[in-house]
Amino acid sequence: MTRRVALIGNPLKRRHSAVMHNAAFAAHGIEASYELQPIESNEVGAFFDAARGPDWLGFGVTAPYKQVAIGHLDEIEPGAAAIGAVNNGVRRDDGSLVGFNTDASGFISAVVSMGLSVAGHRAVVIGAGGAARAVVWALLDAGADSVFVANRTPERARGLAESLAEYGTVIPGALDGSELAGALGSAAIAVNATTVGMTTDTLAFDVAGLPNDALVFDLVYVPPITPLVQAAGARGLRVCNGMEMLVRQGEVAFERWTGIGSTADTMRSALESWLTEPGRDR
Ligand code: NAP
Repeated sequence: MTRRVALIGNPLKRRHSAVMHNAAFAAHGIEASYELQPIESNEVGAFFDAARGPDWLGFGVTAPYKQVAIGHLDEIEPGAAAIGAVNNGVRRDDGSLVGFNTDASGFISAVVSMGLSVAGHRAVVIGAGGAARAVVWALLDAGADSVFVANRTPERARGLAESLAEYGTVIPGALDGSELAGALGSAAIAVNATTVGMTTDTLAFDVAGLPNDALVFDLVYVPPITPLVQAAGARGLRVCNGMEMLVRQGEVAFERWTGIGSTADTMRSALESWLTEPGRDR
């Protein structure tokens, strides 16, 4: 029996996850396939009913269904419940479905791979959307002293700070305030969790005032080298791009489906080969 994993979303423009996971299935001789299933909102319930069948290993969820998926699952792990979003899940042997959030664990895994332990340190996160929520929760869960969250729409930063306040110190702010410059000046890590750099050719924040040993983390992975990654590299700062987080969150999900860990190298090299193939639709 060929086992199945499907990613649901709408639209589903990107094949990165399918490339990574199918490469890892092949590398480990597992008869399974990872498919993309663009579905309408009224089909979400039927998808999860089907995913309880014995041929399923698990599922992935992307926009706009990361929140709504919660209502269709049998168990939500604490991190995903705190974040309010599920991006992957596993089918247990009894057919029940467990949802979790690998954006958070993938982000922290990538940070650790850069040699940074965030415990006791200050962090800055730009953005207040779904990815920012996962990153802020992950930083607090990893013991960050405080997280300053700045967003184009400051009310959203305030809402994020209020809803995650029980997990640690979250300070909301605006992109144009002097508080942001102050927070960047004492940050061990500064994260872009906006779409800036993907949809616009601008910097999400100014890297000039960061300490010399700060880590700059850009969640954007299309393009892999964003203006922020370039600017941080030019300043000699440590830099991690969104591709590494994508790979690491995929590694966590794959281990939950198959019990096989340490697949990041396989996934990364599959992505790199695929991205350099000419004429591919990405
Ligand atoms: P989202 O929920 O739509 O949030 C978008 C965020 O970007 C909001 O904070 C929004 O601010 C901000 N923004 C959009 N345009 C802006 C602009 N021109 N100037 C300043 N801020 C702007 O999106 P998301 O799901 O959180 O995703 C955010 C990014 O993370 C995307 O690039 C996504 O690809 C990336 N991501 C990467 C990974 C990975 O594994 N590498 C995983 C998840 C997400 P407002 O609130 O003011 O609109």
